[in-house]
Amino acid sequence: MNLKLKNTFTDNLPADSNSENSRRQVLNACFSYVNPKETSKPELLHVSTEVLQDLGLSKADSETDDFLKVFTGNQIPKGSKPYAMCYGGHQFGQWAGQLGDGRAINLGDVQHDSQSWELQLKGAGETPYSRSADGLAVLRSSIREYLCSEAMYHLGVPTTRALSLALTGDQVLRDVMYDGNPAYEKGAIVCRVAPSFLRFGNYEIFTARQDLETLKTLLDFTIKQYFQHLGEPSKDTYINFFEEVMQSTLSMIIHWQRVGFVHGVMNTDNMSILGLTIDYGPYGWLEGFDYEWTPNTTDSQHKRYRFGNQPNIGLWNLYQLANALYPLIEEAEPLETILNAYKTDFEIKSLVMMRSKLGLELQLENDKKLIEDLEDVLQLSETDMTIFFRNLANVQKDDSDNSLQVVEKAFYKPNEISDVVRQTWVNWMNTYKSRLKKENLSDGERKAKMNAVNPKYVLRNYMAQLAIDAAEKGDYQLIDELQQLLKKPYGEQPCNEKWFAKRPEWARYKVGCSMLSCSS
Ligand code: AMP
Ligand code: MG
Repeated sequence: MNLKLKNTFTDNLPADSNSENSRRQVLNACFSYVNPKETSKPELLHVSTEVLQDLGLSKADSETDDFLKVFTGNQIPKGSKPYAMCYGGHQFGQWAGQLGDGRAINLGDVQHDSQSWELQLKGAGETPYSRSADGLAVLRSSIREYLCSEAMYHLGVPTTRALSLALTGDQVLRDVMYDGNPAYEKGAIVCRVAPSFLRFGNYEIFTARQDLETLKTLLDFTIKQYFQHLGEPSKDTYINFFEEVMQSTLSMIIHWQRVGFVHGVMNTDNMSILGLTIDYGPYGWLEGFDYEWTPNTTDSQHKRYRFGNQPNIGLWNLYQLANALYPLIEEAEPLETILNAYKTDFEIKSLVMMRSKLGLELQLENDKKLIEDLEDVLQLSETDMTIFFRNLANVQKDDSDNSLQVVEKAFYKPNEISDVVRQTWVNWMNTYKSRLKKENLSDGERKAKMNAVNPKYVLRNYMAQLAIDAAEKGDYQLIDELQQLLKKPYGEQPCNEKWFAKRPEWARYKVGCSMLSCSS
């Protein structure tokens, strides 16, 4: 395997002068050198063909002993100087101080096809940032990250990627529901891949410590490396940089809302500076369309990170980033202007996105009302988001009698729908059909366009759990099946119709399917 690794991050940024792998506050440094922990009996469970190609690696490479050793932490590839990043973050609205890569170890970057990729082993052992935890990851959360990040990529949602999923052969102790019942689970490592893993928290930590010198070094590096088109670093460039981060964050969140993805832990340490979905923990997919829903049991009381609040939290997090950059800009106004633009841009982009989900090309004044009414009626009774929008493309604008068929298939309890709810749906459908008549597209053309933005297949929470349950017993076939399925989320895939179905009742309250903690 010819993995040509460079050390762009560590060559250009200040390192922790202490090379011991002990837990501590790391000052005046962007990272600490640290080697992955040896694993006792590593076993590769899956490799992503697409990511292999992006890195310039072949399938044959992925079958070598070197590949297994490198991506499970047992061999440091030539040229690599592994490191963990220092970052802080606001967690659940509070400044949490230093966090950092507590269990992620970066191997360096690979350049291929004029793209640069950082490689990171998640679950590869403790680092100076591990605080009171063990630096490891368990199989269930690793499967969830591995499958979901690739699924998001194929949905067209900006995201970090995943190259490989492996077992370490070591046991890891976890108290899944934090209820005093710890148990041993299988340890695993995912190799994550992204142009950069920098987070809002990487900048916040230096401002919090009033270390403006390192803040400037990191920001200038970020701009030179990932925002070259903005030109040489200067105050104006910093403002333009912030504007781009605002736009990419907003665009990522609009995608989440489009596909029904709930991140679950939108702390500022989990916000990528490149607007990528990062850190797949207790995330989930909407089944019933519900703005109040969050998969994260740790957040069940205040539901800060519920589906409908994600756009607000994106803005809140951008405020924290603005505060972190402010000492280098020293003017609040340009930052405030950008933050204010987030709100108006959100309204505009959200409308564009919802119009596309409804197959509306013309921009008519009443569309906003039509969309708001739909969001209301969708929440009157439990209605599957994915099935509803996918089937909505089957509406025929001139057909007067089948108006409720498409939505009936999405109801979780079709027999319990009240007459009032039914009538509200009939009214909405009638308005929608009259609206469609104003469009120039044929039913067929509209359907094709809608099917390109309304996925048929998403990683429903129970699907990931089925793959996990099988994998815990040593059967990894479903991981592959789901990975293949989710490569074409917008395709019809008639032979996979069984996955185009409502969540089964057994999964409604099952741990892992509807309830997830941060334990991972
Ligand atoms: P998260 O909520 O998973 O994004 O993690 C928040 C912080 O906790 C980050 O600094 C992680 O690196 C750290 N962390 C999470 N799990 C572990 C673990 N098992 N060992 C060490 N650090 C961890
Ligand atoms: Mg995190």
